[in-house]
Amino acid sequence: MANLRIDRIRAAAAADLQAATTSAEAETVRVKYLGRQGEITQLLRSLASLPAAERPEVGRQANELKVEIDRLVGEKLALTRAAERRRELEAERPDLTLPGRRPPLGALHPLTRVDDEIVEIFIGLGFAVAEGPEVESEYNNFEALNIPRDHPARDMQDTFYLSEDTLLRTHTSPVQIRTMQAQRPPVRVICPGKVYRRDADITHSPMFHQVEGLAVDRDISMGDLKGTLELFAREMFGARSRIRFRPSFFPFTEPSAEVDVLCFLCGGGGCRVCKQSGWLEILGSGMVHPQVLRNVGYDPEEVTGWAFGMGVERVAMLKYGVDDIRLFFENDLRFLHQFA
Ligand SMILES: [Zn+2]
Repeated sequence: MANLRIDRIRAAAAADLQAATTSAEAETVRVKYLGRQGEITQLLRSLASLPAAERPEVGRQANELKVEIDRLVGEKLALTRAAERRRELEAERPDLTLPGRRPPLGALHPLTRVDDEIVEIFIGLGFAVAEGPEVESEYNNFEALNIPRDHPARDMQDTFYLSEDTLLRTHTSPVQIRTMQAQRPPVRVICPGKVYRRDADITHSPMFHQVEGLAVDRDISMGDLKGTLELFAREMFGARSRIRFRPSFFPFTEPSAEVDVLCFLCGGGGCRVCKQSGWLEILGSGMVHPQVLRNVGYDPEEVTGWAFGMGVERVAMLKYGVDDIRLFFENDLRFLHQFA
């Protein structure tokens, strides 16, 4: 009787395993036969009720069957788990045809835009771009530009000195000096770059950007300067733009003039930005001082020239109606995105 029961369990377990197609089903088979209430467990538990003579043989066969079912279930589990893992990997395989994630796209900084715009206008007029180092000699930054030793601009309060005679350039004018030292007239250059001054408030930054222009040739006059800047103003601020010259003083130009552009916000009628004057001061200019020409080895009897310089931040503030210069340097994306 016991033998018959063992054979029946063996056949049933084999059939159940055959039918199992997943690891979960194989696990169910294990519990059904080998679990605490499983058929083999119950069979072993029932040995006590057998006649003493049959017990050893039936016990041996039951244990054999237990080992056999355990092995078969283990094999089935290994097979089904491997198949399931393969299906998982298949399902997880990345789809290389899916479109990629777009990284957020940046845009040109408003100062770069204005800088590029200014430079492009002058390139269109036949000017070449000239650049120079931000760490300069005191000679190139001051002396050569006819700014004498006792001039207030040389004050330690205004200039970042790196040593006795080197400093962070306070304007891009030393690039004009370097250009004239390196080439003979005619010279026609536009010099964009960073400059440094000890100054910080809502309209001043210790580092800011300048663009300067220089033209030197025979018979260059103040009229050429005015014509060039009028053309620049129309390109930069609109076809109806007008400029005016006001006498001024700079050590490196003679005569010198401040240049105002007709306020492009109110058209000259007066508004908050132009402080009701109708005009916006945008640059300084003048005829290159004869001493500056002599300092670079040019003969002021032979050639003349003019120069101008403007602050890129100031132009950008006027153009975009920004009233705090610090916004340009804080890199707040909400501010910068407005120019994208
Ligand atoms: Zn105005």
